[in-house]
Amino acid sequence: MYDVIIIGCGCAGISAAIYAKRSNMDVLIIESNAPGGQINKSSIIENYPGFESIDGPSLAYNMFNQLQKMEIPYKYGKVIDIELENNKKIVITDKERIETKTVIIASGRNPRKLNIENEDKLSSRGISWCAICDGNLYKDKNVVVIGGGNSAAEESLYLSKIAKSVTIINRRNELRADESFINELKKKNNIKILYNYKPLKFIEEENKFSGVEIQNTIDDKKETIKCDGVFIFIGYEPETTFCKKLNITDENNYIIVNDKMETKIDGIYACGDVIKKDLYQIVTSISEGAIAATSAKKHVD
Ligand code: NAP
Repeated sequence: MYDVIIIGCGCAGISAAIYAKRSNMDVLIIESNAPGGQINKSSIIENYPGFESIDGPSLAYNMFNQLQKMEIPYKYGKVIDIELENNKKIVITDKERIETKTVIIASGRNPRKLNIENEDKLSSRGISWCAICDGNLYKDKNVVVIGGGNSAAEESLYLSKIAKSVTIINRRNELRADESFINELKKKNNIKILYNYKPLKFIEEENKFSGVEIQNTIDDKKETIKCDGVFIFIGYEPETTFCKKLNITDENNYIIVNDKMETKIDGIYACGDVIKKDLYQIVTSISEGAIAATSAKKHVD
């Protein structure tokens, strides 16, 4: 039986694993995707102390490398359920049942979809949710970015260095992104922002992605923007389907924790982007991972 199983190997899970291992706990980390989580999809990170500027995959690699050097057991697998049995918990993956004294949920979030016509059909054939993964496919081409938050702004700046043009479609008359990003966007000649437009459907011509139909939210007029690719950055959905039965989430499926990262179930903790909080940042996730592991240690002791 493990002392702690950490679900998710993004920055919150990695931080929890480092603190758990250093406090002598028997720890296992389980992940169903590439280690590093959302950081892998960030082009440039400039607000993580110690790194003036670093690309996401390099930071993710550094973190995972540290985990491996500390010989923290890591397993690839998809968690589908957590069962409670007296004083122990059973983490059920698609392959096995693993017993543990405590669980730290650090499963993060997935990019949200628009749920409009042709989105699934043209996914990876013109529609992407990751600029750093797919941006290079659009060298000197015209791309559209949908969304107006920090992700849309940050990734538009990244894409503007590769693509010929970037058109941001924002559904309101102002961006949600931080002022520093907005100032950077204004400096770019090849970034255009369309305000008060919502996407209606993606266009397919001769079996190929060719653009997006948008509608003005003030006068309802529709128009089509021809482009080579579109990137969707409209927020995230927490990855909590596997713990629905535990009833530890709010109405938006984020896990509710206190300042010790405790959920309402004894011995189950959560940290990082999967929890309900005000600030979704690498620094906050890392700090919450450390707190969750410290709370788990006290419980085990
Ligand atoms: P977000 O802040 O929730 O912004 C989502 C954007 O998408 C908003 O502009 C929203 O419009 C728009 N949107 C949502 N649903 C839409 C729909 N159906 N159709 C069209 N537009 C839609 O999400 P995010 O930008 O991914 O950021 C998530 C969190 O991570 C935030 O807390 C952010 O600060 C943080 N983050 C930080 C950094 C950084 O500090 N470097 C970088 C990336 C992300 P409305 O404004 O009208 O709702």
